[in-house]
Amino acid sequence: MVAKAFEKISAYFFGTYLCAMQILNGKEASQAIKDDLKLSVAQLAAQGKKVPHLAAILVGHDGASETYVSSKVKACEEVGFKSTLIRAEANISSLRLLDTIAELNTNYDVDGILVQLPLPEHISPDEVINAIHPDKDVDGFHPINVGKMVLGQPTFVPATPYGIMLLLEHYKIETKGKHAVVVGRSNIVGRPMSILLSGSGYPGNSTVTICHSQTTNLKELCQSADIIVAALGKPGFIKEDMVKEGAVVIDVGITRIPDASKKSGFRLSGDVDYANVAPKCSFITPVPGGVGPMTIAALMKNTFRACANKHHE
Ligand code: NAP
Repeated sequence: MVAKAFEKISAYFFGTYLCAMQILNGKEASQAIKDDLKLSVAQLAAQGKKVPHLAAILVGHDGASETYVSSKVKACEEVGFKSTLIRAEANISSLRLLDTIAELNTNYDVDGILVQLPLPEHISPDEVINAIHPDKDVDGFHPINVGKMVLGQPTFVPATPYGIMLLLEHYKIETKGKHAVVVGRSNIVGRPMSILLSGSGYPGNSTVTICHSQTTNLKELCQSADIIVAALGKPGFIKEDMVKEGAVVIDVGITRIPDASKKSGFRLSGDVDYANVAPKCSFITPVPGGVGPMTIAALMKNTFRACANKHHE
């Protein structure tokens, strides 16, 4: 194992791999976005205008959801937004949750509403998403906003794929004419990602293949990809032999793996076998520190946009 690792490191340094791998640092790129937003919010405040206000609803006490929501609230504080966190017990009725959303819809001060997913089984996520006013749907999951995104109209784009687009832009990665393989077809990551990368403009103009659990020739498709977006939630799934040299690899996966050596009791794992895949890539995102922070930055941008739309009314 040690010999194999040495072989890889020396191959990397002595030119077997033609490209120099660069890490796509989501922390750094997201900080640049948040710094810009902070300036814009300060300008609004200096002009006596309303600053953006995000309302987040957290149902239940799932550990990962708690972490995500607290990161979103923290980011709001960082950029100068107002935030309201509404907590509900896991046994909240669907009707009660819909009432809460209805109140937020009519509250002028609230610009963006997000309901942290997943929801308990007795609540339909579709019903909840459909209840959020499209003008406040900063997660970009409402059918009206999804429709606009598909048509290439300005709208709220789901935060994770939007964050990936911002990351590609930050690092000036060429996407035009490239073959992008998106692994995963969820409504929140894979599907919107495939639409954005295939759209016209930059980043975009890629030729996109979208894969899922029923894809039969996944390995071959990945091998032909210039860009791979792995969003399937299977730790280490994308292996070295699935990636061509010089590929751009975006790892969306976040899975908590029990790890007694960690204070938290777990470590985070992406969908890419990073140690073995990274030396072959031109660019790769780490986990953590890649797509995660970009998702939050994109949500902040959507919330700013929701508020700015009001200023332009
Ligand atoms: P999801 O709703 O469970 O969707 C997973 C997708 O992967 C499905 O389309 C599924 O196919 C496909 N898939 C599963 N096994 C596969 C296989 N063996 N080969 C090919 N495709 C396979 O998950 P998600 O919400 O999109 O999230 C995916 C991962 O991203 C998770 O680890 C999640 O935690 C992470 N995530 C991270 C962020 C972030 O900010 N970094 C944000 C959101 C999600 P079928 O449709 O056929 O079932």
